[in-house]
Amino acid sequence: MAGCRGGNNGRMLVLLVEDDRSIAESVTASLASAGMEVAHVTTGVAAVDALSLAVPDVVLLDLGLPDMDGLDVARQLRERSAVPIIIVSARGDELDRVLGLELGADDYVVKPFSQRELLARIRAVVRRGVPVPGADGGPVPAASGRLVIDERTRTVLLDGAEVVLTAKEFDLLAYLAAEPGVVFRRNDILEHVWDVNWYGTTKTLDAHVASVRKKLGHPDWVQAVRGVGFKFVELPS
Ligand code: CA
Repeated sequence: MAGCRGGNNGRMLVLLVEDDRSIAESVTASLASAGMEVAHVTTGVAAVDALSLAVPDVVLLDLGLPDMDGLDVARQLRERSAVPIIIVSARGDELDRVLGLELGADDYVVKPFSQRELLARIRAVVRRGVPVPGADGGPVPAASGRLVIDERTRTVLLDGAEVVLTAKEFDLLAYLAAEPGVVFRRNDILEHVWDVNWYGTTKTLDAHVASVRKKLGHPDWVQAVRGVGFKFVELPS
């Protein structure tokens, strides 16, 4: 039920995991003025607990928490839910970014950030994670029939079994699988699947490709074309 907005009067529910009181207050005020509901917790344990009570539309996760490393929190949240996770941290080095994304985070905001930037990123990940009402795109089965990618419900079935992907992983796979065998350039993939103002590196793409391959159970579903990019290949059963 990740991404479901039911039971909250249609307002977006944001789970804010942040131990810094002044940051939490300003973020809460800013999200509230944008019409969002905020559930605020200050520890990793409380974040994991909160997820079992109500699935938010998005999680804003500080990396520097008093009880747990935020990356461990991200991993635990991801094991329980496909909820979009935006990591919010002062630790902007590349290793943290790639690690955070490998652990299933959907985006990354480095402190200090503007409230406007934060709101834009929240809206972007939630938009990607929620089916558009009335969208007419039906299930788009790959020709092999093994893989069914449904844009409306944002679910992926492999041989009839659901493959749980993060929002970005889904977008990546759906983008490539729309044209099996066609090679997509790295820059085009980054621009399409990530925001144009995304400032991560190409390692982000590699981390997501690795994760999608792993979840599909075979690396050849998404094949690298040296010096160009990636292509989706239908595998026989
Ligand atoms: Ca902190």
